[in-house]
Amino acid sequence: MFKKKKLLLLTITALMSVMLLAACNSGDDNASGGKDGDSGKNVLETIKKRDKIIFGVKYDTKLFGLKDPTTGEVEGFDIDIAKQLAKEILGDETKVKFVEVTSKTRIPLLNKGDIDAIIATMTVSEERKKEVDFSEVYFEAGQSLLVKKGSSIQSIDDLTKDTTVIAVKGSTSTDNIREAVPEAPVLEFENYAEAFTALKAGKGEVLTTDDSILAGMASEDDSFELVGEKFTEEPYGIAVKKGEKEFTDALNSGLESLISSGDFDTIYDSWFDGLLK
Ligand code: GLU
Repeated sequence: MFKKKKLLLLTITALMSVMLLAACNSGDDNASGGKDGDSGKNVLETIKKRDKIIFGVKYDTKLFGLKDPTTGEVEGFDIDIAKQLAKEILGDETKVKFVEVTSKTRIPLLNKGDIDAIIATMTVSEERKKEVDFSEVYFEAGQSLLVKKGSSIQSIDDLTKDTTVIAVKGSTSTDNIREAVPEAPVLEFENYAEAFTALKAGKGEVLTTDDSILAGMASEDDSFELVGEKFTEEPYGIAVKKGEKEFTDALNSGLESLISSGDFDTIYDSWFDGLLK
């Protein structure tokens, strides 16, 4: 159900970008976009020369990017998709390097050139499009609430000026909740591990972010549960430095071939089967 919706969206957006590309190519030969100022190389050329893609990923977000302290490996849906994209672009899924980002640090790290792309539960938004470019949407989440089981909070309508809401800096979740319930105080943390620890310690009554991230937390500790309906749409995209069209195109064709081969669904099911509504 979910996947069908996602696939349809990806197909439509892919078609739209092909049409847009055709329109641009037909009349505009100002091709300065896509070049990396000083070096004269675009990011895709740099990646091919380096023979490795550097992805900014989460290290503390179960199901998407979580570092196992015993093995030192980072695991999750975003990680598996990143590895497969490295295979599509460079021929080998090990030609990938992961760098930890948080919601707050990811755009600055990308624009500084420390990472080539962000694949880290990142919502495509008009505001962010002013700073970065995005691939096609590869996952659809929606904002929700996580509470201790038995809490009197059962939906967003139960939030008041007396309910402290925990959220993470630099996320769409903080902006969305402030807009939806301006009177509720928001306590912000650096990352999702800290935010969940704060919820467990009772520093707030509710933690808000994407349902997909909250599902990972609830699967870790079953004294917590998701409540209410999703109250936003959070379509995830892979962020790339502005103007890096060749690289964005390569990521998009990689995503498309993962979908048509069925590998995308296999990876999706391995992380989310039965966990998401
Ligand atoms: N998808 C939302 C965002 O991009 C929340 C998850 C996150 O903080 O990465 O901000």
